[in-house]
Amino acid sequence: MLGSDGGDTTVVCIACGESVPRSAAREYDKTGDRWERHDKEFEHVCKDCFRELSHQPRSGLESLLVDIEDDGLSETEFLSRYLDRVDDEAVEEPDS
Ligand SMILES: [Zn+2]
Repeated sequence: MLGSDGGDTTVVCIACGESVPRSAAREYDKTGDRWERHDKEFEHVCKDCFRELSHQPRSGLESLLVDIEDDGLSETEFLSRYLDRVDDEAVEEPDS
């Protein structure tokens, strides 16, 4: 929403799903592509999860999987989301 930069914004932790005040969350950029900042929403993790994430050797993958996971999501859809995330440029519809 426009003009909602006041600090009361609530963000959802991608790791545990908790809603936390943005000021209490950590911005998490899974790709490090800062130039894409205008074109995407940064993800957020709460401080507790950030602490856990920070010593994951494969930075990004865990949170990516958590982020795209959803209840009742089929394997096909999960993979589709995953591929969409890891390669934003090649959006291919599964042709089955
Ligand atoms: Zn969390």
